[in-house]
Amino acid sequence: MSSADRRTLHIAGAEIGGGSFALIAGPCTVESRAQTLATARAVRDAGATMFRGGAYKPRTSPYSFQGLGQEGLRLLAEARAQTGLPIVTECMDLRDLEPVLEVADVVQIGARNMQNYALLTEVGRAGRPVLLKRGLSSTLEELLMAAEYVLKEGNEAVVLCERGIRTFETSYRFTLDLAAVPVLKERTQLPVIVDPSHAAGRRELVGPLSLAAAAVGADGIMVEVHPAPEHAVCDGRQSLATAGLPDYVRRLAAAAALAGNTLAPWRPEVAAVA
Ligand code: PEP
Ligand code: MN
Repeated sequence: MSSADRRTLHIAGAEIGGGSFALIAGPCTVESRAQTLATARAVRDAGATMFRGGAYKPRTSPYSFQGLGQEGLRLLAEARAQTGLPIVTECMDLRDLEPVLEVADVVQIGARNMQNYALLTEVGRAGRPVLLKRGLSSTLEELLMAAEYVLKEGNEAVVLCERGIRTFETSYRFTLDLAAVPVLKERTQLPVIVDPSHAAGRRELVGPLSLAAAAVGADGIMVEVHPAPEHAVCDGRQSLATAGLPDYVRRLAAAAALAGNTLAPWRPEVAAVA
């Protein structure tokens, strides 16, 4: 299928798919007002097209920081007001969907919830764009069927995200399955993006994996960044420092161009009328 046939999603001034490459960047979690706003400004200035950040965090240990919840959503709304960037944030629980929808331009369904069919059905009904992450041990067929739960409700704005799967290899946090990108594109017109951060688990690998993902034809990247990764509350080891973003974005745009995609700048004039 030619890229002209592919579906382009328009999300509050940002474009994804059909030749438009999206860069979704931001912290793993919203920690504080200063950290959130500094990161949002840095990613906007570097050319990111959307801002990510979790207010509700799926943590392996129940004793780890679980996210700021409603206060985190409020900070994300402030980041949007200050930068204009569309917000991508995770909803883990049906009970939080209403407040999440007040802020999220894109509702993220995390890897651990990929097969939470009740949640998928409700975000389908909500009609808001959905970023659906592949489960840790899910096949591509299972990912596509999970997406169907959203599509079936009449919500066609679904972005699929490869974020690494569990294999026997222990040298990195997960194994980034780059073949998933062209294979998913054979089977669906939905945009397919890659999250190199959770796959890698350490920042040294994030640059190379991002370039590879862009060159293999991903429609975008979702990457974790922090102004001071060594002090991050969550996933600092895999977060890029905001200071390095301009160089990262320049190289990423060149890799995306190899696959015929353009890192489309976020367009405030479109957001204003959206
Ligand atoms: C995230 O993107 O914040 C996240 C928790 O990722 P995943 O669901 O892929 O583990
Ligand atoms: Mn994270």
